[in-house]
Amino acid sequence: MSSPATRYPLHRLSGQFQDPGQEAAYRLDIEPRVRLESSVALCVAALIFAMFAISDYHFVGLSLELTLLLAMRLVVAAACLTLAFVLRRQGSYLRHAWLHALPLWILATAIILIVPLRPESLSTQVSGVVVATMAFYLLIPNLIPVVVAASLYMGLGFMGAALMVAEIPAALALRLMLVLVMTNAVGFFALLRLETLQRTQFALLQEERVQNQQLTEEISRRRSLEAQLRSLAERDALTDLDSRSHFMQRAGELLRRAQVDRAPFSLFMIDADHFKTINDTWGHSQGDRVLAAIAEACRRTLRPQDVIGRFGGEEFIVALLDTHPKDAQVIAERLRQRVAALSFDDDMPGHRLAVTIGVAGVVDEATDLGTLIQRADQALYAGKRGGRNRVEMSQEA
Ligand code: GH3
Ligand code: MG
Ligand code: MG
Repeated sequence: MSSPATRYPLHRLSGQFQDPGQEAAYRLDIEPRVRLESSVALCVAALIFAMFAISDYHFVGLSLELTLLLAMRLVVAAACLTLAFVLRRQGSYLRHAWLHALPLWILATAIILIVPLRPESLSTQVSGVVVATMAFYLLIPNLIPVVVAASLYMGLGFMGAALMVAEIPAALALRLMLVLVMTNAVGFFALLRLETLQRTQFALLQEERVQNQQLTEEISRRRSLEAQLRSLAERDALTDLDSRSHFMQRAGELLRRAQVDRAPFSLFMIDADHFKTINDTWGHSQGDRVLAAIAEACRRTLRPQDVIGRFGGEEFIVALLDTHPKDAQVIAERLRQRVAALSFDDDMPGHRLAVTIGVAGVVDEATDLGTLIQRADQALYAGKRGGRNRVEMSQEA
């Protein structure tokens, strides 16, 4: 598997993603942080820049230069505060990168302008330029090309002003140049490292998000598969009744609960009469339709809390909660009549559908589901022997 770093290579000099889409995604992701950090940094820069009015007074005293310096500091501080406000609200890091560059150019111009206004304090200003360069690279969030351009403008402008206005000797100019080059180099590599690290981290995070998403999808896919499998195991496909195993499980639990509560509990075994004839005469598909119709008749006749299952073939089984065998007999009779009333005249002319039902109820606490089924089954076969299309009670209940 390739790592995010190889999948999303970075430009060597700008630290940005080579893929424009990925770069856009990254900038969008960090935008809230950039907006906040930019506006805070600009507020601090405005404050510091305004505070240096004190050193202006110290160097030039009450003079025309002081007035010009104060006016300039006021304009710069106001511009920085305005930009801090604008960037906080609409500083899109993707579309308005130039808006983020603007404060750097304003500050750089102001720093250059201090040279002609306060030429005697050049040595102090050098440290000011060094600090400002580092702040450009590391404290005000910006893209590397933007910072490099603004820093070079500030360095070259400052050098030019120092040479032309302050008329510094060539040796000092060289030393100054070296300091500025070193400062820019340190700032550049520190920012490059930061940009690279942050983007690598972003790519990793993105990868993790994709994997989490895939995992979530896989989990829901498996859940739905599990639900399908469970439904396959629990439901009978033809009749949509409980499958035999699911019926046994549910009815077993209900029987145990009924025994604890000493509540009555009854069971039906239902078998379609002469079903083989239907298959043999009108085909298996018709047989299937009849089975589905019997299942539907069971659902309509019985209560929602009764558990109905397909026991196998053309046999159905029903567990009736809170139902005494005598009442179960009445319900079974109603069900039998309902099935007998089902009309298949178009599909099976002249044939009347019928079921035989064996009914058994709980007689003592020791009766288990297996025993109850056996009794209902015996009753059912007694009913078959007795002529079919009838309800037969188990001898023991
Ligand atoms: P009896 O009145 O004694 O119950 O006679 P019967 O014909 O109903 O009983 P028998 O056991 O002889 O035949 C049951 C038939 O039910 C045989 C089998 O092919 C058919 N059968 C079982 N399952 C299905 C099914 O899912 N669909 C269809 N169409 N027929 C089925
Ligand atoms: Mg049968
Ligand atoms: Mg049968």
